[in-house]
Amino acid sequence: MIKRVNHIAIAVRSLDEALGVFESLLGIKAAHTETIPDQGVKAALIPIGDGEIELLEPIDPEGGVAKFIERRGEGIHHICLEVDNIDEELKSLAARGVELIDKRGRKGLAGRIGFLHPRAAKGVLIELAQKV
Ligand code: ZN
Repeated sequence: MIKRVNHIAIAVRSLDEALGVFESLLGIKAAHTETIPDQGVKAALIPIGDGEIELLEPIDPEGGVAKFIERRGEGIHHICLEVDNIDEELKSLAARGVELIDKRGRKGLAGRIGFLHPRAAKGVLIELAQKV
């Protein structure tokens, strides 16, 4: 079951520069910053109520976020929806013929995560996350 919007992710060229922009825009400091080599990014999370804005800077020029910025420039990269059970949710979507990037949950910044293919949702990359 989908519970709520967990975060909205924004691809940026420089995390330091973007943190300055969003922190002064929102008047909120990032809760934490983390490097996720698996996903080729450095990320910062800015809490907004019970959701977050996630800023993503590519550290791998061949990674998905780097390619996204190359193609489309900086901007909204994905929307993350929180679910009760990531593996069940992905299995049920696959059974309904939804095109997935991940067939099973894997470790991510927001917990156990999995991505749907943007072709499944009008060009929007959707991440599902189960808190751990
Ligand atoms: Zn995310």
